[in-house]
Amino acid sequence: MFDKILIANRGEIALRVIRACREMGIKSVAVHSTADADAMHVRMADESVCIGPNSSTDSYLNKAAIISACEITGAQAVHPGYGFLSENAAFAQALEDHGITFIGPKAEHIRIMGDKITAKVTAKDLGIPVVPGSDGGVADFETAIGVAAGIGFPVIIKATAGGGGRGMKVAHNAEELEIAFRTARSESKAAFGNDEVYIEKYLQKPRHIEIQVFGDGKGRAVHLGERDCSLQRRHQKVFEEAPGPVITEALRAKIGKVCADAVAKINYIGAGTIEFLYEDGEFFFIEMNTRLQVEHPVTEAIFGVDLVREQIRVAAGMDMSFGQSDLVINGHAIEVRINAEKLPNFSPCPGKIKVFHAPGGLGVRMDSAIYGGYSIPPYYDSLIGKLIVHGRDRPEALARLKRALGELIIDGIDTTVPLFHDLLAEPDIQTGDYNIHWLEKWLAAKYSA
Ligand code: ADP
Repeated sequence: MFDKILIANRGEIALRVIRACREMGIKSVAVHSTADADAMHVRMADESVCIGPNSSTDSYLNKAAIISACEITGAQAVHPGYGFLSENAAFAQALEDHGITFIGPKAEHIRIMGDKITAKVTAKDLGIPVVPGSDGGVADFETAIGVAAGIGFPVIIKATAGGGGRGMKVAHNAEELEIAFRTARSESKAAFGNDEVYIEKYLQKPRHIEIQVFGDGKGRAVHLGERDCSLQRRHQKVFEEAPGPVITEALRAKIGKVCADAVAKINYIGAGTIEFLYEDGEFFFIEMNTRLQVEHPVTEAIFGVDLVREQIRVAAGMDMSFGQSDLVINGHAIEVRINAEKLPNFSPCPGKIKVFHAPGGLGVRMDSAIYGGYSIPPYYDSLIGKLIVHGRDRPEALARLKRALGELIIDGIDTTVPLFHDLLAEPDIQTGDYNIHWLEKWLAAKYSA
C-alpha cells in the first residue's frame, strides 16, 4: 500500500479523497493555486504544495508542477478527483513514466473513451447497445443529410472531443441541419481544437441512466447499479438519485452484467461510469467516463461501500474488497449539487461566505469545502457542495432531503439551494416522473412568468 498520496484537485472532491486516505492510514498531499492558499483542502491535508497562480491552466492543469510536487514530497501515487486532469491520458502516462501511480484507469483506456467516436465503436464491439447514428465522423453536409435520412429527424450533432455538455446541436429538418452542422464544427474547433463531429438520433423523452462499474485490472469487474441523472440544465446534472425510479431489478441485472462483462474483458482498472439514454425499455450508450463521478456518493450510500478506498486499493495492486454477490442495494439516495450561482440565470456568484451551517442527522451527508469566512475565488467551477441523503425508500429520502435543505445555512452569497426547495414541491419530482428535458421546460415556465 502507498504511504503518501497527492491529490491533484481542489474543493469538495479533494476533501473526499483526503478523508479516504486518512481512514486508510495514508498521508495526503494537497496542491493548490495561489488563490487557494486558504482553502479547506490545504488545511486538511498532511502537507501542501503551491503549484502555480490563480488560473487553473497554470496550476491544477500544470502537469509538470504536479509531478514536481510528487517528487518534492515523496508521494507515490496521484488521485486526480474529477475534472482537471482526471481524464487526461498524457498525464496518466507522464506519471507512469516517472514511476508514480495514477489512481485511475490505464492511459490507453482514458484515450479510447475520451474520443467519443472511438468510445462508441469500442462499446458496440463489446456488446453494449448504442444510439443509432453515423458510423464515425461526418466530414461534409451531404453525408450528414444522408445519415439523417437514414435514422430520421430530429438528430443531434456532437463533437468527437466534446464534454461537459458542450458541443451539441439539435436539428429537426434539413435546413436546421445545415446551420447546426456548420456551427457545431466551428464551435468544436474553437472549444476543443478539433472540428470532428458525428450524428445521432435525438431521443425525445429519454432518461439519463448511468451504470457504475469497477474493475481490478486483472479481468474481474462488477457493476454497482445505476444512477438516474435526468434532471439537467444545459446538459449538466443538478439532481441525481440511486436506484433509478423506473429501473426494475431485472433491467438492472441485465444492463449491469453487459457493462461489467465489457470492462472485465478489457482489464479495466478502477471506477468507471457507462452513460446511457433510456427510453421505452431500451438502453442506448452515449459515453463512458473513466473516473470517479461527482454523483458517486448516491451509489456509496445504497451499497455501503467507499469507492475512493476501493480505487486506492486496486491502484496499489490489491483485490477489490467486494464481489458482485456482496453488492446488495439498501434503500434510496439522492444528491443535489449546490452551486454558487444566482437564480434565475444561474450566473456565477463568488464571494465571501459569512455563515455556513451544514445539515446533519440520520442519513445526511454534506460534502463541501466551504466554511464561515471563506471567500469563494472566481476562477474555478461554481460547485461548492453536495448534499446527499439516504433513506429506506424514495419517499423517505425525499422527506429527508427537504428536512436537510431546511437546516442548511449558507449566508453571504447566492446559491442554487432555493431551486431544490421549489423542485421538491413538484408532483413530478415526488413521483419520479421526469426525463432529460423536464428541468429545462420547468425552468422556462417558472422563471419567464
Ligand atoms: P457530455 O460528454 O458533454 O456530458 P454526453 O454525450 O454525455 O455529453 O451527453 C450529455 C447529455 O446530453 C445527456 O445526458 C443528454 O441529456 C443529452 N444527449 C446526449 N445525446 C443525446 C441524444 N442522442 N438524444 C437526446 N439527448 C442527448
